[in-house]
Amino acid sequence: MKKIAVIGAGTMGNGIAHTFAQNGCKVSLIDISEDSLKHGMRTIESNLNRMVEREKISLEQKQSTLENITTFDTLTHGVADVDLVIEAATENVEIKMKLFSQLDEVCEDHVILATNTSSISITKIAAATKRAKQVIGMHFMNPVPVMKLVEVIRGLETSDEVTQKVMQCAKDLQKIPVEVQDYPGFVANRILMPMINEAIYALHEGVAGVSEIDAVMQLGMAHPMGPLHLADFIGLDVCLSILQVLQDGFGQSKYAPCPLLVNMVAAGKLGVKTGEGFYDYSEGMKSKKLSRQFVK
Ligand code: NAD
Repeated sequence: MKKIAVIGAGTMGNGIAHTFAQNGCKVSLIDISEDSLKHGMRTIESNLNRMVEREKISLEQKQSTLENITTFDTLTHGVADVDLVIEAATENVEIKMKLFSQLDEVCEDHVILATNTSSISITKIAAATKRAKQVIGMHFMNPVPVMKLVEVIRGLETSDEVTQKVMQCAKDLQKIPVEVQDYPGFVANRILMPMINEAIYALHEGVAGVSEIDAVMQLGMAHPMGPLHLADFIGLDVCLSILQVLQDGFGQSKYAPCPLLVNMVAAGKLGVKTGEGFYDYSEGMKSKKLSRQFVK
Protein backbone atom coordinates (compact mmCIF):
# COMPACT_ATOMS: atom_id res chain seq x y z
CA MET A 1 0.00 0.00 0.00
CA LYS A 2 1.66 3.24 -1.19
CA LYS A 3 -1.08 5.68 -0.31
CA ILE A 4 -3.93 5.23 2.16
CA ALA A 5 -6.62 7.34 3.83
CA VAL A 6 -7.56 7.13 7.50
CA ILE A 7 -10.99 8.44 8.52
CA GLY A 8 -11.10 9.79 12.08
CA ALA A 9 -8.11 11.39 13.83
CA GLY A 10 -9.05 10.27 17.37
CA THR A 11 -7.31 7.75 19.64
CA MET A 12 -7.10 5.02 16.97
CA GLY A 13 -7.05 7.08 13.76
CA ASN A 14 -3.96 9.06 14.69
CA GLY A 15 -2.18 5.86 15.78
CA ILE A 16 -3.03 4.12 12.49
CA ALA A 17 -1.88 7.16 10.46
CA HIS A 18 1.36 7.31 12.49
CA THR A 19 2.10 3.60 11.92
CA PHE A 20 1.55 3.65 8.14
CA ALA A 21 3.47 6.95 7.73
CA GLN A 22 6.43 5.64 9.73
CA ASN A 23 6.53 2.69 7.33
CA GLY A 24 6.89 4.98 4.30
CA CYS A 25 3.25 5.18 3.21
CA LYS A 26 1.58 8.47 2.24
CA VAL A 27 -1.43 9.02 4.50
CA SER A 28 -4.47 11.30 4.20
CA LEU A 29 -5.84 11.81 7.70
CA ILE A 30 -9.49 12.89 7.47
CA ASP A 31 -11.78 14.16 10.24
CA ILE A 32 -14.88 16.35 10.33
CA SER A 33 -13.49 18.09 13.41
CA GLU A 34 -10.62 20.57 12.97
CA ASP A 35 -9.85 20.19 16.68
CA SER A 36 -9.50 16.41 16.33
CA LEU A 37 -7.12 16.85 13.39
CA LYS A 38 -4.98 19.30 15.36
CA HIS A 39 -5.05 17.16 18.49
CA GLY A 40 -4.31 14.02 16.42
CA MET A 41 -1.24 15.60 14.77
CA ARG A 42 0.00 16.86 18.16
CA THR A 43 -0.35 13.33 19.56
CA ILE A 44 1.57 11.83 16.63
CA GLU A 45 4.36 14.40 17.05
CA SER A 46 4.67 13.86 20.80
CA ASN A 47 4.71 10.05 20.34
CA LEU A 48 7.44 10.45 17.69
CA ASN A 49 9.41 12.74 20.03
CA ARG A 50 9.29 10.04 22.70
CA MET A 51 10.56 7.47 20.18
CA VAL A 52 13.46 9.79 19.23
CA GLU A 53 14.33 10.32 22.93
CA ARG A 54 14.40 6.54 23.42
CA GLU A 55 16.55 6.20 20.27
CA LYS A 56 13.98 3.95 18.59
CA ILE A 57 13.91 6.22 15.52
CA SER A 58 16.15 9.01 14.20
CA LEU A 59 15.20 12.70 13.88
CA GLU A 60 15.08 12.19 10.08
CA GLN A 61 12.58 9.32 10.50
CA LYS A 62 10.42 11.52 12.72
CA GLN A 63 10.50 14.27 10.09
CA SER A 64 9.69 11.97 7.16
CA THR A 65 6.83 10.36 9.15
CA LEU A 66 5.25 13.78 9.74
CA GLU A 67 5.80 14.77 6.10
CA ASN A 68 4.00 11.60 4.96
CA ILE A 69 0.74 12.75 6.63
CA THR A 70 -1.64 15.32 5.11
CA THR A 71 -4.82 16.33 6.93
CA PHE A 72 -8.26 16.91 5.31
CA ASP A 73 -11.62 17.95 6.71
CA THR A 74 -13.64 16.44 3.84
CA LEU A 75 -13.66 12.98 2.25
CA THR A 76 -13.43 13.69 -1.47
CA HIS A 77 -9.92 15.19 -1.74
CA GLY A 78 -8.49 12.96 0.96
CA VAL A 79 -9.35 9.67 -0.76
CA ALA A 80 -8.00 10.60 -4.22
CA ASP A 81 -5.41 8.05 -5.52
CA VAL A 82 -5.48 5.85 -2.42
CA ASP A 83 -5.28 2.01 -2.45
CA LEU A 84 -6.88 1.49 0.94
CA VAL A 85 -9.19 3.43 3.25
CA ILE A 86 -9.24 2.60 6.97
CA GLU A 87 -12.26 4.02 8.76
CA ALA A 88 -11.63 4.80 12.46
CA ALA A 89 -14.50 7.18 13.15
CA THR A 90 -16.73 7.11 16.22
CA GLU A 91 -18.16 3.65 17.12
CA ASN A 92 -21.70 4.32 15.89
CA VAL A 93 -23.48 2.21 13.31
CA GLU A 94 -25.29 5.10 11.57
CA ILE A 95 -22.06 7.11 11.21
CA LYS A 96 -20.24 4.12 9.75
CA MET A 97 -23.06 3.13 7.34
CA LYS A 98 -23.22 6.70 6.02
CA LEU A 99 -19.44 6.93 5.68
CA PHE A 100 -19.19 3.64 3.76
CA SER A 101 -21.96 4.63 1.41
CA GLN A 102 -20.13 7.94 0.71
CA LEU A 103 -16.78 6.17 0.37
CA ASP A 104 -18.27 3.75 -2.15
CA GLU A 105 -19.36 6.75 -4.25
CA VAL A 106 -16.10 8.69 -4.14
CA CYS A 107 -13.40 5.98 -4.15
CA GLU A 108 -12.07 4.34 -7.32
CA ASP A 109 -13.33 0.81 -8.00
CA HIS A 110 -10.17 -1.03 -6.93
CA VAL A 111 -9.97 0.62 -3.47
CA ILE A 112 -10.30 -1.66 -0.41
CA LEU A 113 -12.53 -0.23 2.33
CA ALA A 114 -11.49 -1.38 5.82
CA THR A 115 -13.04 -0.52 9.17
CA ASN A 116 -11.33 -0.46 12.55
CA THR A 117 -14.67 -1.04 14.31
CA SER A 118 -14.39 -2.85 17.65
CA SER A 119 -17.67 -4.68 17.30
CA ILE A 120 -20.05 -3.58 14.53
CA SER A 121 -20.81 -6.23 11.90
CA ILE A 122 -18.50 -5.97 8.87
CA THR A 123 -21.22 -7.64 6.77
CA LYS A 124 -23.68 -4.92 7.78
CA ILE A 125 -21.22 -2.10 7.01
CA ALA A 126 -20.40 -3.75 3.66
CA ALA A 127 -24.10 -3.73 2.77
CA ALA A 128 -23.93 0.08 2.63
CA THR A 129 -21.66 -0.31 -0.44
CA LYS A 130 -21.75 -1.98 -3.84
CA ARG A 131 -18.35 -3.57 -3.22
CA ALA A 132 -18.97 -6.00 -0.34
CA LYS A 133 -16.11 -8.22 -1.57
CA GLN A 134 -13.70 -5.35 -0.88
CA VAL A 135 -14.95 -4.48 2.62
CA ILE A 136 -13.07 -5.92 5.56
CA GLY A 137 -12.34 -5.38 9.26
CA MET A 138 -8.83 -4.26 10.16
CA HIS A 139 -8.97 -4.05 13.94
CA PHE A 140 -5.83 -2.44 15.35
CA MET A 141 -5.12 -2.41 19.09
CA ASN A 142 -4.45 0.66 21.25
CA PRO A 143 -1.77 2.12 21.24
CA VAL A 144 -1.40 1.29 17.55
CA PRO A 145 2.31 2.10 17.09
CA VAL A 146 3.15 -0.33 19.93
CA MET A 147 0.65 -3.21 19.78
CA LYS A 148 1.47 -6.08 17.42
CA LEU A 149 -1.98 -7.61 16.81
CA VAL A 150 -4.28 -6.76 13.91
CA GLU A 151 -7.53 -8.74 14.03
CA VAL A 152 -8.53 -9.14 10.37
CA ILE A 153 -12.27 -9.75 10.11
CA ARG A 154 -13.86 -11.26 7.03
CA GLY A 155 -17.40 -10.15 6.27
CA LEU A 156 -19.75 -12.70 4.73
CA GLU A 157 -18.73 -11.61 1.22
CA THR A 158 -15.11 -10.47 1.70
CA SER A 159 -12.97 -12.10 -1.00
CA ASP A 160 -9.91 -14.29 -0.41
CA GLU A 161 -7.82 -11.89 -2.48
CA VAL A 162 -8.75 -8.85 -0.39
CA THR A 163 -8.18 -10.80 2.84
CA GLN A 164 -4.70 -11.84 1.66
CA LYS A 165 -3.83 -8.25 0.64
CA VAL A 166 -4.88 -6.90 4.04
CA MET A 167 -3.02 -9.69 5.91
CA GLN A 168 0.12 -8.82 3.90
CA CYS A 169 -0.39 -5.12 4.52
CA ALA A 170 -0.43 -5.74 8.30
CA LYS A 171 2.77 -7.83 8.01
CA ASP A 172 4.43 -5.01 6.04
CA LEU A 173 3.77 -2.78 9.09
CA GLN A 174 5.61 -5.38 11.24
CA LYS A 175 2.29 -6.35 12.82
CA ILE A 176 0.88 -9.84 13.33
CA PRO A 177 -2.51 -10.32 11.62
CA VAL A 178 -4.99 -12.92 12.88
CA GLU A 179 -7.94 -13.84 10.62
CA VAL A 180 -11.35 -14.20 12.28
CA GLN A 181 -14.98 -14.43 11.18
CA ASP A 182 -17.66 -11.75 11.49
CA TYR A 183 -19.61 -12.42 14.71
CA PRO A 184 -20.44 -9.85 17.44
CA GLY A 185 -17.28 -8.59 19.16
CA PHE A 186 -15.16 -10.81 16.86
CA VAL A 187 -12.64 -12.54 19.18
CA ALA A 188 -10.85 -9.72 21.01
CA ASN A 189 -13.85 -7.89 22.42
CA ARG A 190 -16.09 -10.92 22.85
CA ILE A 191 -13.60 -12.06 25.50
CA LEU A 192 -12.26 -8.73 26.80
CA MET A 193 -15.50 -6.77 27.30
CA PRO A 194 -17.34 -9.29 29.52
CA MET A 195 -14.23 -9.26 31.74
CA ILE A 196 -14.21 -5.46 31.95
CA ASN A 197 -17.98 -5.42 32.56
CA GLU A 198 -17.60 -7.99 35.37
CA ALA A 199 -14.86 -5.85 36.97
CA ILE A 200 -17.26 -2.86 36.90
CA TYR A 201 -20.03 -5.02 38.43
CA ALA A 202 -17.62 -6.10 41.21
CA LEU A 203 -16.92 -2.42 41.93
CA HIS A 204 -20.64 -1.53 41.71
CA GLU A 205 -21.58 -4.28 44.17
CA GLY A 206 -18.83 -3.23 46.61
CA VAL A 207 -16.88 -6.48 46.31
CA ALA A 208 -13.68 -4.40 46.22
CA GLY A 209 -12.41 -0.91 45.30
CA VAL A 210 -10.91 0.23 41.98
CA SER A 211 -7.25 -0.30 43.00
CA GLU A 212 -8.00 -3.66 44.61
CA ILE A 213 -9.81 -5.03 41.53
CA ASP A 214 -7.01 -3.87 39.24
CA ALA A 215 -4.35 -5.25 41.61
CA VAL A 216 -5.98 -8.71 41.65
CA MET A 217 -5.93 -8.96 37.87
CA GLN A 218 -2.47 -7.41 37.45
CA LEU A 219 -0.70 -9.35 40.19
CA GLY A 220 -2.76 -12.52 40.10
CA MET A 221 -3.30 -12.99 36.37
CA ALA A 222 -0.18 -11.16 35.13
CA HIS A 223 -2.26 -8.69 33.12
CA PRO A 224 -0.10 -5.66 32.24
CA MET A 225 -2.94 -3.32 33.25
CA GLY A 226 -5.99 -3.85 35.49
CA PRO A 227 -9.40 -4.06 33.74
CA LEU A 228 -10.70 -0.73 35.12
CA HIS A 229 -7.53 1.11 34.12
CA LEU A 230 -7.73 -0.55 30.69
CA ALA A 231 -11.39 0.51 30.32
CA ASP A 232 -10.29 4.12 30.94
CA PHE A 233 -7.71 3.78 28.15
CA ILE A 234 -10.17 2.24 25.69
CA GLY A 235 -12.84 4.87 26.53
CA LEU A 236 -15.90 4.03 28.64
CA ASP A 237 -18.22 5.11 25.81
CA VAL A 238 -16.47 2.65 23.47
CA CYS A 239 -16.79 -0.14 26.10
CA LEU A 240 -20.49 0.61 26.55
CA SER A 241 -21.25 0.56 22.85
CA ILE A 242 -19.37 -2.75 22.36
CA LEU A 243 -21.34 -4.36 25.21
CA GLN A 244 -24.58 -3.14 23.62
CA VAL A 245 -23.55 -4.75 20.32
CA LEU A 246 -22.78 -8.05 22.15
CA GLN A 247 -26.10 -7.90 24.02
CA ASP A 248 -28.10 -7.16 20.85
CA GLY A 249 -26.12 -9.61 18.70
CA PHE A 250 -26.38 -12.62 21.03
CA GLY A 251 -29.61 -11.64 22.81
CA GLN A 252 -28.16 -12.78 26.12
CA SER A 253 -28.43 -10.90 29.41
CA LYS A 254 -24.88 -11.87 30.40
CA TYR A 255 -23.65 -9.06 28.15
CA ALA A 256 -25.89 -6.37 29.73
CA PRO A 257 -23.73 -3.35 30.56
CA CYS A 258 -23.33 -2.65 34.29
CA PRO A 259 -25.52 0.33 35.37
CA LEU A 260 -22.41 2.02 36.81
CA LEU A 261 -20.80 2.01 33.33
CA VAL A 262 -24.00 3.45 31.84
CA ASN A 263 -24.03 6.21 34.49
CA MET A 264 -20.38 7.11 34.02
CA VAL A 265 -20.86 7.51 30.28
CA ALA A 266 -24.01 9.61 30.89
CA ALA A 267 -21.95 11.83 33.22
CA GLY A 268 -19.29 12.30 30.51
CA LYS A 269 -16.62 10.46 32.54
CA LEU A 270 -15.17 8.55 29.61
CA GLY A 271 -11.66 7.80 30.92
CA VAL A 272 -8.32 9.15 29.66
CA LYS A 273 -9.84 11.15 26.80
CA THR A 274 -11.98 13.29 29.14
CA GLY A 275 -9.43 13.32 32.00
CA GLU A 276 -11.55 11.18 34.33
CA GLY A 277 -12.96 7.67 34.50
CA PHE A 278 -12.21 5.17 37.25
CA TYR A 279 -8.96 7.12 37.68
CA ASP A 280 -8.20 10.84 37.52
CA TYR A 281 -5.83 11.89 34.72
CA SER A 282 -5.70 15.62 35.48
CA GLU A 283 -2.01 15.20 36.36
CA GLY A 284 -1.18 13.29 33.20
CA MET A 285 -2.10 10.13 31.37
CA LYS A 286 0.10 7.89 33.51
CA SER A 287 -1.49 9.10 36.76
CA LYS A 288 -2.98 6.38 38.89
CA LYS A 289 -4.83 8.74 41.22
CA LEU A 290 -8.33 7.43 42.00
CA SER A 291 -11.29 9.47 40.75
CA ARG A 292 -12.84 11.32 43.67
CA GLN A 293 -16.07 9.29 43.59
CA PHE A 294 -14.16 6.03 44.19
CA VAL A 295 -12.03 7.22 47.13
CA LYS A 296 -13.30 5.31 50.17
P1 NAD B 1 -12.43 8.67 19.16
O1 NAD B 1 -13.68 9.13 19.77
O2 NAD B 1 -11.14 8.91 19.88
O3 NAD B 1 -12.27 9.31 17.68
C1 NAD B 1 -13.27 9.28 16.71
C2 NAD B 1 -13.01 10.38 15.69
O4 NAD B 1 -13.91 10.20 14.59
C3 NAD B 1 -13.26 11.78 16.25
O5 NAD B 1 -12.09 12.58 16.03
C4 NAD B 1 -14.45 12.29 15.41
O6 NAD B 1 -14.37 13.70 15.15
C5 NAD B 1 -14.27 11.49 14.13
N1 NAD B 1 -15.49 11.38 13.32
C6 NAD B 1 -16.77 11.15 13.71
N2 NAD B 1 -17.59 11.11 12.64
C7 NAD B 1 -16.82 11.31 11.55
C8 NAD B 1 -17.08 11.39 10.15
N3 NAD B 1 -18.31 11.26 9.66
N4 NAD B 1 -16.05 11.64 9.31
C9 NAD B 1 -14.78 11.78 9.79
N5 NAD B 1 -14.47 11.73 11.12
C10 NAD B 1 -15.48 11.49 11.97
O7 NAD B 1 -12.64 7.11 18.86
P2 NAD B 1 -11.54 5.94 18.83
O8 NAD B 1 -11.36 5.40 20.21
O9 NAD B 1 -10.35 6.39 18.03
O10 NAD B 1 -12.35 4.82 18.03
C11 NAD B 1 -12.43 4.86 16.62
C12 NAD B 1 -12.84 3.49 16.14
O11 NAD B 1 -11.84 2.54 16.52
C13 NAD B 1 -14.15 2.98 16.71
O12 NAD B 1 -14.82 2.23 15.74
C14 NAD B 1 -13.68 2.09 17.87
O13 NAD B 1 -14.62 1.10 18.19
C15 NAD B 1 -12.43 1.50 17.28
N6 NAD B 1 -11.43 1.01 18.25
C16 NAD B 1 -11.17 1.70 19.39
C17 NAD B 1 -10.18 1.22 20.27
C18 NAD B 1 -9.81 1.99 21.52
O14 NAD B 1 -9.04 1.46 22.35
N7 NAD B 1 -10.28 3.22 21.69
C19 NAD B 1 -9.48 0.05 19.97
C20 NAD B 1 -9.76 -0.61 18.77
C21 NAD B 1 -10.74 -0.13 17.92
